[in-house]
Amino acid sequence: MHTDLAYARSMDAKDPLAGFRDHFVLADPGLVYLDGNSLGRLPKAAVGTAADLVSRQWGERLIRGWNEGWWQAPERVGAKIAALVGAQADEVIVADSTSVNLFKLVVAALRQQQGRSSIITDDLNFPSDLYILQGAVELLGGSHRLEVVASPDGIHGPVEELKAKLNRQAALLTLSHVVFKSGYLYDMAELTEAAHEAGALVLWDLSHAAGAVPVDLNGAGVDLAVGCCYKYLNGGPGAPAFLYVRRDLQEVLGNPLTGWWGQERPFDFGLAYRPVPGLRRFLTGTPPVVSLALIEPGVDLIQEAGMEALRAKSVRQTEYLVGLWEAVLEPLGFSLNSPRDEERRGSHVSLGHAEGLRIDLALINEMGVLPDFRYPDNIRLGIAPLYTSYEEIWVAVERLATIVRERYYEKYEGHVPVVT
Ligand SMILES: *Cc1c(COP(=O)(O)O)cnc(C)c1O
Repeated sequence: MHTDLAYARSMDAKDPLAGFRDHFVLADPGLVYLDGNSLGRLPKAAVGTAADLVSRQWGERLIRGWNEGWWQAPERVGAKIAALVGAQADEVIVADSTSVNLFKLVVAALRQQQGRSSIITDDLNFPSDLYILQGAVELLGGSHRLEVVASPDGIHGPVEELKAKLNRQAALLTLSHVVFKSGYLYDMAELTEAAHEAGALVLWDLSHAAGAVPVDLNGAGVDLAVGCCYKYLNGGPGAPAFLYVRRDLQEVLGNPLTGWWGQERPFDFGLAYRPVPGLRRFLTGTPPVVSLALIEPGVDLIQEAGMEALRAKSVRQTEYLVGLWEAVLEPLGFSLNSPRDEERRGSHVSLGHAEGLRIDLALINEMGVLPDFRYPDNIRLGIAPLYTSYEEIWVAVERLATIVRERYYEKYEGHVPVVT
């Protein structure tokens, strides 16, 4: 294992994707940003998009903007995301937040699966996803059973235990493709097939996967998916999310949030709801046009770099980080809270430490390194291969080691900020 800075720099020098870093705003060149899995960096092109949208389109074009691109924006941006996740252009649309999209698709799926009562997920899933499932069960009368299968170690997905739950009562299997805390990466095709054999529908949350790992929704025969645009897709804070419905299910499933944006000919202002054919029926109300437009530049950059090349770099970088952990940080009491196997790992690495939160606070406040923290002890280091450099990874590890060696964390009280 090479633990010296010169090696990190040599890896950056021969990185075929290194040039993509220049497409992002690097306001503070000294800042080591390892949180692209929570909020992606700002693409330079998005600054121009925002100015055009606000000053010209809104300022000058006013209401005419709706007929000059705003109306189609959910589908146009959706089609670009579709190309990144192995879907047809008319199978992905941008709308609402991930949580709201999940709610719409879960209720639609459960209504379709009459006579089947169980919803299967795991305890590694994002809590909001579980809250949405609980809300959907309550809304539908409380007769569904939510099965939250426990991970054996808090890191790896309970694959065999999930499969064992897939019986004739199984209505829906829903999981995060890449788990938010440990970064565990499910084999999408394997679990989708197992669910289909039992007659269950499958819904994947791609929030930590889209733009980070190759996803092939069509190849795996996936029914439904949702995902987030402000993480690896670099769409900006609060960017609307996306949803995917397989082509042949689009006319079969109904959106429970029946609003005018899902209506056939909404400007007829008819009083009875009649869903428009295709994916637009999963829209509800007017989208946040400005925020929606800002998704496009980030997605374009990912498309240009290519998902295979991004995955190859991401694997090299997480492997490099795991190697540094073993050589430098494990002796200082850090544990690896992510899968060791690169094939089962997404694009972030979680390191645990008994003093995790205080170390995290020292890292942010004194060391110019921004990771994030996930209860109880995870310092989560996100690798966004479009702009993360090997040098940043080296610096982060070096500073983590310094904080522990010099006991810099001791002065922190463990006061928890609202957003960690
Ligand atoms: C980030 C994330 C979300 C975000 O949900 P919002 O409704 O957009 O706040 C949802 N699910 C998972 C798995 C996530 O990682």
